[in-house]
Amino acid sequence: MLSKLEFENGDRIECAKVVCMARNYVAHIKELNNARPKRPIFFMKPSTSIVNEGKRVLLPSFSSDVHHEVELAVVIGKSGKSIPKEKVNDFILGYGVAVDLTARDVQQEMKDGGYPWEIAKAFDQSCPVSKFRLRDDVGSVDNIAISLDVNGERRQDGRTEQMIYSVADMISEMSTYFTLNRGDLILTGTPSGVAKLSSGDILKGDIENVGSLNFEVI
Ligand code: ZN
Repeated sequence: MLSKLEFENGDRIECAKVVCMARNYVAHIKELNNARPKRPIFFMKPSTSIVNEGKRVLLPSFSSDVHHEVELAVVIGKSGKSIPKEKVNDFILGYGVAVDLTARDVQQEMKDGGYPWEIAKAFDQSCPVSKFRLRDDVGSVDNIAISLDVNGERRQDGRTEQMIYSVADMISEMSTYFTLNRGDLILTGTPSGVAKLSSGDILKGDIENVGSLNFEVI
């Protein structure tokens, strides 16, 4: 059974896959001592990673260093393959706030071994999401504020203009590898300030004109 994304207007839409962009903000690349990639790095989370707002999120038992990454999330509205940059907007249904939960210790172990870091990113409940807002009600997402507070303290604070690949660039590029279908969700990378979560932490992600996401991890 596929998870459903919920819109503010009450609409619900099935989501088969989440396609994510890694290393899209320079300050975040630096804080993890990563190299700036020569080509965009994408990875996926399955439908089972999605948690709708209002539910508590279980931190995975196999990690002792789960990080938060607040990200602008884009819902695809119709199927597309090799979408030209200038057409991408027509394929966007709406926007929301997501947190890309990452088992950083497991990811590091996999990176050190030269293995795929799938299990560090795609585990159950690794993608809490807000309610979504329709594209035309949001307007341009090219330069909007994005932030995350944990227990009332600001941890992440950025602007989407700091992205290396814009939303149009990345969706165009992604769609050359993966056909994007209605209901697919795109995560666009995180600004700097990622850090460890502990049971009982309360998270609040905010994106200007898009909305906010509140949840507790246990
Ligand atoms: Zn991420």
